[in-house]
Amino acid sequence: MSPADPPEDAEPCLVPGCGAPSVRHLALAEARKAFDRLPDKGRRAPLCRDHYRAWKKATKEARKLDRLAW
Ligand SMILES: [Zn+2]
Repeated sequence: MSPADPPEDAEPCLVPGCGAPSVRHLALAEARKAFDRLPDKGRRAPLCRDHYRAWKKATKEARKLDRLAW
């Protein structure tokens, strides 16, 4: 076992211009709710910690708006 081996699931973040190691995978359709410039590549979107937090914040606000619309 080499300590230099990166974890297998550390794909680069899918947000254009980022490329940081991902910490979470989202469905591409879910990720698009916050990032509409994601490349159309596969069905999953790896996101780095910063972009995952940005996604959570964006979708949380969307959910709040949904509730207000009722
Ligand atoms: Zn990122």
